[in-house]
Amino acid sequence: MVERSLISVRELAVEFRADTGTVRALDSVSLDLRPGRVLGVVGESGCGKSVTARAILRILDRNGTIAAGRILIDPDTPSETDLAQIDPESKQMRNVRGARVGLIFQEPMSALSMQYTIGNQLIEAIRAHNDPGKTVARQRAIQLLGDAGIPRPETRIDAYPFQLSGGLRQRVGIALALAGDPDILIADEPTTALDVTTQAQILTLLRRLQMDKNIALMLITHDMGVIAQMADDVAVMYLGRVVEYAPVHDVFHRPQHPYTRALLRSVPDLRATPRQRLSTIGGAVPQSNARPTGCPFHPRCPEAMPGRCDTAAPKPVPPGEAGASCFRLEDAA
Ligand code: SF4
Repeated sequence: MVERSLISVRELAVEFRADTGTVRALDSVSLDLRPGRVLGVVGESGCGKSVTARAILRILDRNGTIAAGRILIDPDTPSETDLAQIDPESKQMRNVRGARVGLIFQEPMSALSMQYTIGNQLIEAIRAHNDPGKTVARQRAIQLLGDAGIPRPETRIDAYPFQLSGGLRQRVGIALALAGDPDILIADEPTTALDVTTQAQILTLLRRLQMDKNIALMLITHDMGVIAQMADDVAVMYLGRVVEYAPVHDVFHRPQHPYTRALLRSVPDLRATPRQRLSTIGGAVPQSNARPTGCPFHPRCPEAMPGRCDTAAPKPVPPGEAGASCFRLEDAA
């Protein structure tokens, strides 16, 4: 049985005002975050992965607005709420941030202040949502640091962030994201700034915490290896659209969209012969203000059909369903 969603994003569009006009950064994005499952969101830089996360948390930059769509928390329950309709500065939205949805940054220093000990920052985060008193909050902070795999948490709690290694700081970032006891976590490239050994440790930790606490995890990455290791379901994004949405097994064994196939071809293969050239995706992701006409992927797509793919856009993946957004699949269906 498919678990109910904790968050359903439906046909979300986000726009940014720029000197040159309005730029559409997200277009008809739909995805579901379910308890106990990891949704991997993958694509190159500039594909809209982080904008999607920031829109869900309502922390878009000041020139960004939600132009269309819904962000439903607890959909199809009496407490269903559309976060897209809430004032981002409201108490209700501040409660969602932290107490329902925790955020893990790529660079933990984005979430940590140099001037305060990690204990002070954790205790403040714990007391912000459900103040249990200072002594209990300190005990809880020590427990969170221990859960995040920090050795000797009862002494490390009084350390400043600059006294910790990058890996330990990311563990503190994870503890901070868990301070409000959220049931949803968004991790935005949480291991990109770390060396490969620490990356593997942090991913293992995230997976363990996510399974132990039955958390719905949205994991943003540009790395298909991380997707293979972590994800249950995958949303492949290109230029602000979800171009393929499917269980992870299908993405790796039966990829439907030419962009997904291109991403998979560009993963280094251990069986490659020495000096074999890595496969790359030709060209680069266009700027959002230079979105191509038709299918946004057509200038880079090896399967593009001239006269068709450059004049009209294929249908988006239907909300709540697996599929891919490509004319060739529409034709086959
Ligand atoms: Fe390629 Fe055309 Fe499919 Fe776009 S619609 S992915 S250009 S084949």
